[in-house]
Amino acid sequence: MKYNPFDQEIASWQGIREMPWTPPFKMNVYLYILDGLLIDTGPSTLSNESIRFFNQNLINQVVLTHVHEDHSGMAAWLQKELNVPVYLHEDSIAEAAVEPEFAGYRLEIWGRRRAFSAQPIPERLETEKYRFQVIDTPGHYKHHKAFLESEQGWLFAGDLLVNIKPKSVFFEENMSEMINSLEKIASLDFDTVFCSHTGISKNGKQLCQQKLEYLLDLRAKVQDLRQQGLEDREIDNRLFPERDMIGVITNREFSSHYIVSTI
Ligand SMILES: [Zn+2]
Repeated sequence: MKYNPFDQEIASWQGIREMPWTPPFKMNVYLYILDGLLIDTGPSTLSNESIRFFNQNLINQVVLTHVHEDHSGMAAWLQKELNVPVYLHEDSIAEAAVEPEFAGYRLEIWGRRRAFSAQPIPERLETEKYRFQVIDTPGHYKHHKAFLESEQGWLFAGDLLVNIKPKSVFFEENMSEMINSLEKIASLDFDTVFCSHTGISKNGKQLCQQKLEYLLDLRAKVQDLRQQGLEDREIDNRLFPERDMIGVITNREFSSHYIVSTI
């Protein structure tokens, strides 16, 4: 368990998914409960461990940063067993109501995401002690929210800051939207970031700034090469010459091409 400096106020949970593939795959998942509010639910493949965490803590509402199965995989279970509201981006509610079909690698890593019936995130997302500003932060996914507790300086960032210098992204990601979201976030008042895959970071502003600078620099390079008459495919090869191992595992659902084409 990673050190949680907010032990008194925030219960955090860490799960690990490791796949013995070539190359091996490993990813952490972090969940947070504050004052009865669970932020994201984790995937169904980690249910044995996450259910223990859910049972050890009081949960009276659940909010999701986005509908991806590693964030929403236990939403149906929580809804059924605890009978609590599950809040989600208003434009993902219809998607959540249907169990999706996934590529095999996603099923193996994260498992099924059962259908659940979500409600729109209230304008005032709050618990007895905390109040959250709900911020639209598309980029990783078109319907992604972050939650800011400005009095505490906490930002629950979902997948916004998972990868500070991405070299390969999912086909649904959009780097122009990501840049806009990071610019929006950079202007907010917070210091600590709670990330869904890398845990708690005290220097959240700095991470945000680093990712923003990386992407702005990439954008300038892409624009420059386009002006020289290069096609996106050639730009991709020039900026990302190394073999993309995540692309191999995911059958090209991840690719550096999606960085170039959306930036
Ligand atoms: Zn995601």
